[in-house]
Amino acid sequence: MTGEAAAPSVPLARLVSLEDRVAVVTGGRRGIGQAIARRLLEAGAKVVIADLEGDGAAETARDLGPGERVVGRELDVRDPGSVVRCCDAVERDLGQIDVWVNNAGIFPQTPLLGITSAEWSDVLATNLTGIFNCSVEVGRRMAARRSSGSSRVIVNLGSAASFRSVRPGLAHYTASKHGVVGLTKSMARELGPSGVRVLGVAPTVIETEGLAEQRRSVDDAGDPHAEVVSRILLGRRGRPDDVARVVLFCASDLSAFMTGATLPVDGGFLCT
Ligand code: NDP
Repeated sequence: MTGEAAAPSVPLARLVSLEDRVAVVTGGRRGIGQAIARRLLEAGAKVVIADLEGDGAAETARDLGPGERVVGRELDVRDPGSVVRCCDAVERDLGQIDVWVNNAGIFPQTPLLGITSAEWSDVLATNLTGIFNCSVEVGRRMAARRSSGSSRVIVNLGSAASFRSVRPGLAHYTASKHGVVGLTKSMARELGPSGVRVLGVAPTVIETEGLAEQRRSVDDAGDPHAEVVSRILLGRRGRPDDVARVVLFCASDLSAFMTGATLPVDGGFLCT
């Protein structure tokens, strides 16, 4: 319970616990999303891995734990109909949605003058409109449970590119991730009165399959991430679990009096 959780007498183990909560992670089949699903599961939540490939999502779910605690579902965040079907299925099978993590995202690297209208649209549709599609549907359902007093949280994946132009070739990505920060604030403002918290996390250079694919797609023989990595104060690239730990903080009652903020998970990169 949010109010109860704010009391100093609540034991730490209970504050961090997601026991009796249902969490959905979009793009949870691999990478950061999979690490988030793993931590939420460990904290006691029932977890739904929602991803473009239903079979891949189910396979990841089987790897992570027992079928009654973690399941895979097909979801395309770009398609509002797919979002409704996913939410309906989760509520039918698991009862309610308490935590929704908007993690699905794409990050093709293309010089500004080479970005086609189709590529621009797909990046914005996935990274920004996808969060809108999911959050409006989930926010409506969460807000309707206002009187339950239970903790309900939406977590959005931003990026260091939410705050600055990190490097060339990412104009569409940077625009979409700047938008995520604004959307997070607006969602927090309008859903806060219904007791729904909204937080963002902003990682940089987290080694995932997606990042490796981006590296391979660039003609340049060098490492496109090297310059950014050289400015990470903690002296290493991030790991998916670095992000998952902060998402767990956001999803749990440890952050009960926080909403609207986007937390950098960047080893200090944004300080430079
Ligand atoms: P990955 O590419 O490794 O994984 C992304 C997952 O999202 C994939 O399983 C992918 O499915 C899925 N996905 C893509 N499009 C959709 C869609 N329309 N609907 C549902 N699922 C979809 O990415 P990361 O784990 O590296 O990144 C996750 C998030 O973190 C993204 O939002 C990204 O922008 C953000 N981020 C990542 C950073 C990094 O350095 N890795 C840094 C900053 C932010 P499929 O494989 O089938 O396409």
